[in-house]
Amino acid sequence: MPKSFKVDTLVIGGGLAGSSAAHELAKNGADVLIIDSRKEIGTPVQCAEFIPFQLMQKAFEDYFETAIVQPINNMITIEPSNNKVISTSKGFMVDRTIFDKNIFLKAIKHGAKSMLKTLFLGFSDKNKALVKSKDEVYEIEFKYLIGADGPRSMVMEKSFNKKHELAVCAQIVSKLKEPLEDIIVVFRNYIRGGYGWVFPKNDYANVGIGMDMSFKDNPKQILELFIKDMVNIGIIEDEHKKVSGGFLPIDGISDLIKDNISLSGDAGGFCHPITGGGIPQAVISGNMLAKYVLEDNLKDYEEEAFEIFGIANERAYKKRKTYMKDWNNIQYILPYIWVAYEEYWK
Ligand SMILES: Cc1cc2nc3c(=O)[nH]c(=O)nc-3n(C[C@H](O)[C@H](O)[C@H](O)COP(=O)(O)OP(=O)(O)OC[C@H]3O[C@@H](n4cnc5c(N)ncnc54)[C@H](O)[C@@H]3O)c2cc1C
Repeated sequence: MPKSFKVDTLVIGGGLAGSSAAHELAKNGADVLIIDSRKEIGTPVQCAEFIPFQLMQKAFEDYFETAIVQPINNMITIEPSNNKVISTSKGFMVDRTIFDKNIFLKAIKHGAKSMLKTLFLGFSDKNKALVKSKDEVYEIEFKYLIGADGPRSMVMEKSFNKKHELAVCAQIVSKLKEPLEDIIVVFRNYIRGGYGWVFPKNDYANVGIGMDMSFKDNPKQILELFIKDMVNIGIIEDEHKKVSGGFLPIDGISDLIKDNISLSGDAGGFCHPITGGGIPQAVISGNMLAKYVLEDNLKDYEEEAFEIFGIANERAYKKRKTYMKDWNNIQYILPYIWVAYEEYWK
């Protein structure tokens, strides 16, 4: 028999969305428990670590404490022909280990409880979740459950009977030939349904690829091609460390609420289906959801989330669907599928 106990709000996932929701709830005196399968929040980093300026709001500025590595002004888009397009892209390169931990520790400081190295397994009943910690299974009765368990959300699967369409990513850290002030995004025929990136962190850079899984290409092989390519065009040294990877939901936001269970961050499909950016969306959606939980009004969360993020994500998802078939014509379709071009916004 599993051990059982009760909590008002159970948060599955202590990443950005889960910890920002837990922080807002705990700050307002709610009884909240965070469950995460990781041993330590923030590690390993599975991210290129660029945060657009949009998140630097009063409510979240403490989250950036000691996490900023360097400011960014522009994005350089390198086309398949190697032509460069420069567009404004203000923001910060951060250390995600510090950034994620900052949010989590703020939630804990305000009274949120946590169980790390603990896996959410599913539901034993309508308001009861099963989690596994070490060899013990616990049954946790909840009033609300927040699914913030990332792109391959088990909460989504178990309660909405759905899975996200995914892009797969692979990344290394490389030494830069010269320090960079901008982030670089690279389009190539061989990175099908996605792009490569070189995002600077002082003398080093996160160098990675993200691609549509439907093409069934091998991410490791594509990353190797990309590394060689970036060495050849003189951006990085042939010296690499720290291999990582991860997934991105690319189908946008659909249902966010089922009874007293709701989704935020990547679990809810808040990540942008074309750029793959999801940090601001995760923090903002977690915070927003917590406010509606406190008001006992989940329905309005869904409405506000659609208004703020849903429309842009739906548009991006449709573009993906329309243009991915023409990937062989990437040089031609690029202005319609990439945010650096005027045509994208028309
Ligand atoms: C390679 C890569 C590069 C990226 N680069 C950028 C970037 O530069 N800028 C940007 O804005 N976005 C970027 N993103 C997207 C961004 O990282 C995500 O959108 C963001 O992390 C989503 O936060 P989240 O809290 O929703 O999910 P996550 O950060 O994935 O957190 C989910 C948490 O849930 C836990 N969990 C999952 N399943 C379970 C379970 N069953 N039981 C218990 N715990 C569980 C996980 O351990 C994790 O801690 C990138 C993503 C990838 C993969």
